[in-house]
Amino acid sequence: MDLIEDHQSQQERSEPCPGTLYIVGTPIGNLGDLSPRAKSILKNVSLIACEDTRRSGKLLKVIDSKVPLLSYHKHNFKSRQSQLLEVLETKGSIALISDAGLPGINDPGEEIVHAAKSNHFEVICIPGPCAAITALVISGLPSQRFCFEGFLPKKTSIRKKRLEDISKEQRTTVIYESPHQLISLLEDLAAVCGKERPVQIARELTKLHEETIGKTLEDAIEYFFINKPKGEFTIVLGGEKKNKEKKISESEALKKLNILIEKGERSNIAAKKVAEETGYKKKWLYSKLNKKLDK
Ligand code: SAM
Repeated sequence: MDLIEDHQSQQERSEPCPGTLYIVGTPIGNLGDLSPRAKSILKNVSLIACEDTRRSGKLLKVIDSKVPLLSYHKHNFKSRQSQLLEVLETKGSIALISDAGLPGINDPGEEIVHAAKSNHFEVICIPGPCAAITALVISGLPSQRFCFEGFLPKKTSIRKKRLEDISKEQRTTVIYESPHQLISLLEDLAAVCGKERPVQIARELTKLHEETIGKTLEDAIEYFFINKPKGEFTIVLGGEKKNKEKKISESEALKKLNILIEKGERSNIAAKKVAEETGYKKKWLYSKLNKKLDK
């Protein structure tokens, strides 16, 4: 079936369907990103469950939706469950939205989806913006395989272990962070991954002041020391390079280093270049160099 035929048959299946839970993606900044299908669902379901009724009320006013709202957030999701299942039981339809983006991605959603499916109700996603995916696809870092960490834990011991795991991860990792904690997260990452680890930090995606900051952890830390972090941030961290096959011996690597320095390259830049080329650690190359100088 081609895309147009598919579109027609979707329209024939009139939505919303009774007894169905819709997980609806909403804009992460730009209201133009609310899809026509999302609008139609949000105007026609029996009930909208949302994190913050005041905040979602504003979005629903823009699209002229008169559907009643019910708060559904991290503090009441357990007690709301039976109420929502009852709506589905009586052939009502529900849209679940979060403050922004896709519900279930660092926002309430997974519990009610699990409960609805366990009770044999249909669950359908109306796809929409998601900061993690949006940041990933514009990062220029490998996106074929990636992992998502959301916000890192605050508790020191768990955080330390998580940071170590991330440092060894070969896939690209996507992380959420608040502006107040951004610099300390970048410093924590640099301590375990090395300052040269590639990173792209997406700021204010889909909004007026959207930008990406990179290209290494060191560069980003330097940037945010000068430009105080403001707005919303998603961090896309390059994976650890698979133990680059060290195709050349240690002495050959050191020889390359010496050649660069003899040509006038600064020693730390020369060490960085040789590290990138050979897979030997910059720190190790640099230490060898210093030892030699000390003699
Ligand atoms: N469910 C949402 C989604 O699909 O993206 C994520 C919700 S999570 C509570 C909020 C975090 O997402 C923010 O703290 C920030 O890290 C990231 N985020 C949300 N909007 C963003 C934007 N416009 N630009 C960059 N990051 C954003």
